[in-house]
Amino acid sequence: MGFYSESLIEYKRLQTKEVKIGDLLLGNGHPIRVQTMTTTDTMDTLATVEQTIRCIEAGAELVRITAPSKNEAENLLNIKNELIRRGYTIPLVADIHFTPNAAEIAARIIEKVRVNPGNYVDKKKFELIEYTDADYAEEIDRIRERFTPLIKICKEYGTAMRIGTNHGSLSDRIMSRYGDTPMGMVESAMEFLRIARGESYHNIVLSMKSSNPLVMVHAYRLLVKAMENEFKEIYPLHLGVTEAGDGEDGRIKSAVGIGTLLEEGIGDTIRVSLTEDPELEIPVCKGIVKRYSPSPTISRNVLDTSKAASSESESDNIGDIKTQVAYKRRETFLVNDIGGNHVPVVIADLSKLKTITPNDLQSIGYTYNEVTDKWNIADTAADYVFIGNRLLNFALPGTLKVIVYADAWKNAGDKKKYFPIYGDTEYAIANNKSKALNFVMVDCFTEGLPDTDLLEQLGKDKTVVLCFSSQHPHPMPAVRRMFGELGNRKIRNPVILIVDSNWQTADEHLIHYATEAGALLLDGLGDGVCFGMTPESYKNMADFSSQTMVSGRNYASINSVEEFINNTAFIILQATRTRISKTEYISCPSCGRTLFDLQETTAKIRAVTNHLKGLKIAIMGCIVNGPGEMADADFGYVGSGPGKITLYKGKEVVKRNVPSEVAVDELINLLKENSAWVER
Ligand code: SF4
Repeated sequence: MGFYSESLIEYKRLQTKEVKIGDLLLGNGHPIRVQTMTTTDTMDTLATVEQTIRCIEAGAELVRITAPSKNEAENLLNIKNELIRRGYTIPLVADIHFTPNAAEIAARIIEKVRVNPGNYVDKKKFELIEYTDADYAEEIDRIRERFTPLIKICKEYGTAMRIGTNHGSLSDRIMSRYGDTPMGMVESAMEFLRIARGESYHNIVLSMKSSNPLVMVHAYRLLVKAMENEFKEIYPLHLGVTEAGDGEDGRIKSAVGIGTLLEEGIGDTIRVSLTEDPELEIPVCKGIVKRYSPSPTISRNVLDTSKAASSESESDNIGDIKTQVAYKRRETFLVNDIGGNHVPVVIADLSKLKTITPNDLQSIGYTYNEVTDKWNIADTAADYVFIGNRLLNFALPGTLKVIVYADAWKNAGDKKKYFPIYGDTEYAIANNKSKALNFVMVDCFTEGLPDTDLLEQLGKDKTVVLCFSSQHPHPMPAVRRMFGELGNRKIRNPVILIVDSNWQTADEHLIHYATEAGALLLDGLGDGVCFGMTPESYKNMADFSSQTMVSGRNYASINSVEEFINNTAFIILQATRTRISKTEYISCPSCGRTLFDLQETTAKIRAVTNHLKGLKIAIMGCIVNGPGEMADADFGYVGSGPGKITLYKGKEVVKRNVPSEVAVDELINLLKENSAWVER
């Protein structure tokens, strides 16, 4: 198996074909384009035009508009003309599900159509039918017959196309052969791509979206390999995590999925799907993309799997992560409660606080109750605190342990509570070490490979937890390369991912942590995280109450940098599905099909269910796509008509057309009936 990216150990952009969308060029090393989708009714020309303009002014380079039927497709002409009249000429994209006739109209009017291969021809019945090879071939002929007219129109009008697979809406045919898998997602797109190539039509972009970043990342990697293997060329990729939700959760989930792939040089355009107004998605997109600008030079023309690493030694250095496209946790031994089969730990950095009192622990999930003389411990309570060169003068919660520099540790009375941290060379010569747990800092490839003899020595020490960080301009690939070194030497010590941020705003820090740590965690690398800030960034953030998201909303009820970082760490672990500490919401971004106020409803449902740790609740705007798109949710709340909601358990309808005024209560009843409810 070859690589899916130009290089796993340094940043290089993947070479893709060039696609022309109106006047906009995409792929082939052009800047990563940012885009969004309107949420207005497409028949409401003025509202759609005005929302599109707000998106353009925020920086969108493409805007997608839903075209659920012929009427909306025809109205795209009015929308386009009005935009031109007002001086806006960016390319528009029609979003098509189920309706080839709408696609054929739209392709004559605007610059790009998006088709979903899961429902362009197939009507999903959720039936698992056994397909023989002959049945399968017959189905492909049926797709060819229905899809070819659109290709011909696109060729004639110079219209681009996105073949956009969604994890939740694979056809019954694909499901029957591949199941609900990343490979099924890839094959779903490849069926359509082969037909388009057969017609010599190449103005194509592809996407592999899922609400689960693990599935999404896996599918894009497989798609790159599949295109390279079959065609020896790669079409540009549109990246996105579907139904990511809102607020910090939506931003982090998107940054984990999109950022992981961009770090690998994969991705030519991105959309961040938030359950917020579409213009608010653009600053998040820009925040993600600016990390890769200006675009680096592409080193060679076509991805060559036989030369994927630039040298033999580089290939060796990747070790046992070299063929990994999916999640597989790196094997480690257990040190104290770190590594082995333990969930990744969270280390809170309190070292920048001038003094540390019991009250400060509230920001990392521990609240002291004076009356009962007990600590209340939240699901998102940090496991360790790093406090620098001092010791604490109060009794700590039972589950919390403390990391201090070696000098301070010598004076710590309770050696079961306090553990030392060393520099790597410092540890090699230290004669006073913990018998249970020693943290050892390793700088990854900032100035070449660390001392390999020392690394081997650390690998033999069963008390050592390695702490990886890097000052390299692209730290994530440098850290990943270090994991390769461990793999080559069969070193199985657990590793903490130390990520420092020198960005300015809370949004930027959030994206930084999510990208740098998320990309490694998604590959099963890392047994814990510790996030921090450079002194200057910390100073800028000190008055946390002044920090707002670009949406203008506050960062929930967050009061301090430490609380912000701790929350972020737990959301990243949840997004990478490595540690579940809260309810997961899969809410669609809404579009012209939406049948209720998604933002308000999501907030309402979140307010009453956010204590149900581990439960996945989907909130979807329409019955046409909602049930398919909500993928692996446990329960679904889906708009089924004006003022009507249908409730799902998994993919099964359990309460149909419930009046929206009582639908949230009915959802709670449904959770109770299924033993999924606990009182707060
Ligand atoms: S699920 Fe949401 S975003 Fe998707 S088509 Fe329906 S309303 Fe639009």
